[in-house]
Amino acid sequence: MARLLWPLVRVLLLLEVAAAVNFLHHRYEEMVQALFSVQNECPYITRIYSVGRSVEGRHLYVLEFSDYPGIHEPLEPEFKYVGNMHGNEVLGRELLLQLSEFLCEEYRRGNERVTHLIHDTRIHIMPSMNPDGYEVAAKQGPDSIGYLTGRNNANGVDLNRNFPDLNTFMYYNGEISGPNHHIPLPDNWKSQVEPETLAVIQWISNYNFVLSANLHGGAVVANYPYDKSQDQRFRSHRRTVNTPTPDDKLFQKLAKTYSYAHGWMHRGWNCGDYFADGITNGASWYSLSKGMQDFNYLYTNCFEITLELSCNKFPPEEDLERQWMANREALVAFIEEIHQGIKGMVSDENNNGIAGAVISVQGISHDVTSGDMGDYFRLLLPGTYTVTASAEGYQPQTVTTTVGPAAPSLVHFQLKQDVVRKLPERKTSGTRTNNKALQKKVVPRATHRGTQR
Ligand SMILES: [Zn+2]
Repeated sequence: MARLLWPLVRVLLLLEVAAAVNFLHHRYEEMVQALFSVQNECPYITRIYSVGRSVEGRHLYVLEFSDYPGIHEPLEPEFKYVGNMHGNEVLGRELLLQLSEFLCEEYRRGNERVTHLIHDTRIHIMPSMNPDGYEVAAKQGPDSIGYLTGRNNANGVDLNRNFPDLNTFMYYNGEISGPNHHIPLPDNWKSQVEPETLAVIQWISNYNFVLSANLHGGAVVANYPYDKSQDQRFRSHRRTVNTPTPDDKLFQKLAKTYSYAHGWMHRGWNCGDYFADGITNGASWYSLSKGMQDFNYLYTNCFEITLELSCNKFPPEEDLERQWMANREALVAFIEEIHQGIKGMVSDENNNGIAGAVISVQGISHDVTSGDMGDYFRLLLPGTYTVTASAEGYQPQTVTTTVGPAAPSLVHFQLKQDVVRKLPERKTSGTRTNNKALQKKVVPRATHRGTQR
């Protein structure tokens, strides 16, 4: 009897899953419900946690997908998506709910690609970074929406202009001469940011994220760092200056992965604007100060891009299914981009992982560091690279390695303890002094013509 009933039960279970997230706009309570419903359907590969609360006390929830939820497995990279940072840009929020349901459902169906992705990646999904702003925008509804209503948080602050300005430290003395990785935060940073920003900074400091995207609306383009141009304080904000990172080619490839997997982003002409290949350097579009994307690159190991996903910031519900179909492949393909370049363990002679070891690639002036367990991830395009691992108290080790297009190359380092040399002074100490000097200067207000990212 049980054997006869099982196929019926299975069909009913699948139907229940399929109905978990509808193509509707989800208010806060409904969004929370949708997340927990996905968690309920896929309890063994998901976890829900909150990184903190908004000004009005709403949780900034994250849904995590992993074969071991809640645990960092060495050599398994951490990925994140953040949506709805601007409360009135709502498509990302709905797409991330759809993506959550999709990953859960496809995993249960045994979809090989999704199963691999979840087994090899720890995926963190935050559908809304600005739940207070969303409620303000949603009260107006999609039809009567004022263009900027609900963009800011409950204190009226634009969260994508609220991160510590680390670019200014890098552009010190009018040239890009300072370090562009792991720049220390100003001493008083906590008092200068909003609760949502504070929660996100603590979140991205606690996880060793490797790749991420921040989902916005008001245009259709994949935008990559830097967002802030070097000379915006001297020139009109309308002046656009391409401001590449040392990882420019890699960022272009990451952005193109999204735009070409998207239904129409890659065509270039969207919302009355043209972007070749559907991608743009942030500063060459319009310069933006204190954004989250540059902060990720300058403070953490994470490579982040900003996705503008719809001309209409608050699209009607009838449009949501079409938008999901246009973005589904892109959202999955972009996560898969985390599996490229090199990764490995940095350990001592007794095979203990070394945390905070610096991984430098010759010719690319941007270092990454190893995580708590000694594992590191360095996204790279295919090619041959000379890579050095160094850590305080150890002799540096240099290897040459070739990176292919498909999977990351495993490059492990075992560092010998340095008994002869005195401990070198930390590289960052000089920067700290510079930062202090800079903190006293007046940092220019962000001027921006765009209201997208
Ligand atoms: Zn935005």
